[in-house]
Amino acid sequence: MSVVVIIPAAGTGSRFGGSIPKQFQQLAGKPLIQHVIERFLVDENVSRVIVPVAEMLLSSVKNSERVTFIAGGATRQESVMCGVAEVGDDAELIAIHDAARPLFSAATFHATISAARDAGVSLPVIPVTDTIHIMTAEATIDSTLDRSMLGAAQTPQCFRPDILRDVLERAARDGISAATDEAGLAARYGYLVKAVPGDPRNLKITVPEDLAIAESYLEQWSES
Ligand code: C5P
Repeated sequence: MSVVVIIPAAGTGSRFGGSIPKQFQQLAGKPLIQHVIERFLVDENVSRVIVPVAEMLLSSVKNSERVTFIAGGATRQESVMCGVAEVGDDAELIAIHDAARPLFSAATFHATISAARDAGVSLPVIPVTDTIHIMTAEATIDSTLDRSMLGAAQTPQCFRPDILRDVLERAARDGISAATDEAGLAARYGYLVKAVPGDPRNLKITVPEDLAIAESYLEQWSES
């Protein structure tokens, strides 16, 4: 299998705060993004990893045989488009993974690969345990969603390259530039998107407190 992985990492991490974006924060002695890249590089399905980063950071990162850093875009979706433009014709699947999710398991990744080979697009999803309300600008509840119908999206998300290219082109033509994930875009354009079971430990580092939780998960992993 030849999977090319795109890790959009050009965000500023404004919700995290601090002077460096969250994907470059230290976790157990190395930057978050390094954990993510290394986890993919040990996987035999992965032929190449492409990492869109903020342009000003390009001079401080180093490409290697299988890892290419490129300049990202103004939104996550645009950074992914920059990544896709770098993918050659030999990729059988393209996986997209958040730079801030260092704790994905090989089992989750392999399940998405297998589901995308069958269905074209796949992603890990976990059930939503909180009740989700649509809120008004005045911080009151407008309406309440049916929780049994909701799923929280995780990454890695896997795509047949022709499908990913098609949905990104259509979204750009339709003026959509800030989709928060590409699996949702694929569903919007009528493609079948298959969910596989997500993993609660595959958390997205969003606030500084998440780093301590991630560190304890990493310790549990190294002990097991
Ligand atoms: O903001 P959020 O956590 O949803 O961002 C998801 C991912 O998209 C992060 O890894 C972030 O670095 C990336 N991103 C990007 N280019 C942007 C904005 C976000 O690659 N312009």
